[in-house]
Amino acid sequence: MSKVKQCVGKEGFQRMNYLYQASNAIATESKANNVASVFYTNLLVNVSKRQSKGCKDIAMKRTVCKGCRCLLLAGVTCKVRIKKKKVIWTCMSCRTSKVFEIRNRNYMPWTQRKESVVDILDYTPQQDLGLEKNNK
Ligand SMILES: [Zn+2]
Repeated sequence: MSKVKQCVGKEGFQRMNYLYQASNAIATESKANNVASVFYTNLLVNVSKRQSKGCKDIAMKRTVCKGCRCLLLAGVTCKVRIKKKKVIWTCMSCRTSKVFEIRNRNYMPWTQRKESVVDILDYTPQQDLGLEKNNK
């Protein structure tokens, strides 16, 4: 048995990260490719639902439209307005809006607080000495 602690659902997290980056890259490239971006974001949401009962990363979750599942990029695919101590993100394709309260300026979501971190797993690739000898 190895002492290295295994990350539960590592492949799912990697896949979600890749899909988010691909969707972001396609959405920022041009508006004509919005369908592909929505497709990738839809896949991302489906993977996250199957993986861990919903998306755990709040920054990722907040940038996905609930109506059409396109990526919400301020100024590109959504407009951001501040009204009555609320930040309102409105999707430009389906007009669905997300409202975030800003009454408490020091508010931090639970996943971004220090006390929410239980353990940090290190997955940096270890240098294998056997490979270096073969590459001479
Ligand atoms: Zn939308």
